[in-house]
Amino acid sequence: MIDLDRARNETSGCKNVLHFNNAGAALMPDIVVETVQAHLKLEQEIGGYEAEDKREEDLNSFYHGVAGLLNCASSEIAFIENATRAWDMAFYSLNFQANDKILTSVSEYASNYIAFLQIARRTGATIDVIPNDESGQLCIAALEERIDRRTKLIAITHVPTNGGLVNPAAEVGRVAKKAGVTYLLDACQSVGQMVIDVQQIGCDILSCTGRKFLRGPRGTGFLYIRNELLENIEPIFLDLHAAQWTSANSYTMRNDARRFETWECSYASKLGLIAAIEYARGWGMENIELRIKALAEQLRLQLASMCGVSVHDIGAQKCGIVTFSMEGLSPDEIHLALRERAINVSTSSSKGTRLDMEARGLASIVRASVHYYNSEQEIDAFCTALGALSL
Ligand SMILES: *Cc1c(COP(=O)(O)O)cnc(C)c1O
Repeated sequence: MIDLDRARNETSGCKNVLHFNNAGAALMPDIVVETVQAHLKLEQEIGGYEAEDKREEDLNSFYHGVAGLLNCASSEIAFIENATRAWDMAFYSLNFQANDKILTSVSEYASNYIAFLQIARRTGATIDVIPNDESGQLCIAALEERIDRRTKLIAITHVPTNGGLVNPAAEVGRVAKKAGVTYLLDACQSVGQMVIDVQQIGCDILSCTGRKFLRGPRGTGFLYIRNELLENIEPIFLDLHAAQWTSANSYTMRNDARRFETWECSYASKLGLIAAIEYARGWGMENIELRIKALAEQLRLQLASMCGVSVHDIGAQKCGIVTFSMEGLSPDEIHLALRERAINVSTSSSKGTRLDMEARGLASIVRASVHYYNSEQEIDAFCTALGALSL
């Protein structure tokens, strides 16, 4: 169970805004902000390198914290400044050759798909999009059918940026394992809002950002690389932290996932993300998942009952992202009108998930994403405010 009063009291932003933009950037808990501020202050007072030395042990707890969150080893985690770079570092390090096949999902994120296109252009690799089943999630039977000897990678998005869909990540993992194909999961929107266990899912690579459902600072993220894969993958970029320069003509790489990191990073933000992960685990990921699902379901039901409102979420299993449109007002108009009333949502356009949006004939939709610290009263207030817009 979530103690809602405590959750809200520990999130100062709740006093100012009704925040349904957790899929964009969630409100940080106060402890996260205090942690970041304290480290910047320490850097101001004694120097950046000296502050790092002083908090060395705390900084190293990052790997253990993420490993606990995902159920993996600390050596399989790298701190990276955002999910896109984390994903890129892994993807661009896979050695694609002409005729290699990349299997992906209809709801794939634009940045990932642009990278597929770039690699396809450079190497002659091909992209194959697995269709959805009737529920709107990735079709496992179609995935099985399309895997062949040329398949080099399965790269899919767990929860897309533009809706409540949860793709069947663990079923994909079973297929990938059986076929011996590397499996890259974009878990940017799922980590922090649901239980994520990389052993159960079976992915080899996972990327995530700090600012979304994990409630961490902006400019943070991480990469998970399974140990078995680590042995066979050399990062596309190496620096003096990822590798050691051993002689005029040689270097050796670190033997853990931190070979995907760079030496320099924001230590204050890294400490902030550590605090955010600890804070989330303190509530319990099962509790967080249950509450988010219940709130989102309530929001979907209330929206669906409103005149002129259409809810657009698809999939057999749905999460905390709720998307809709409303007759008479564009998503941008709704977004701006709500912001004037201190209500935060965001919009998703076809630019972010072109294949899915075009297939469904959607140009743009409103995205209202709830977190466990949101209240049932906020859902009522949100629907009332929305209803008043259309008058
Ligand atoms: C937000 C998002 C990303 C990108 O994350 P950044 O931290 O902004 O790089 C990637 N994939 C999905 C599905 C997202 O929602």
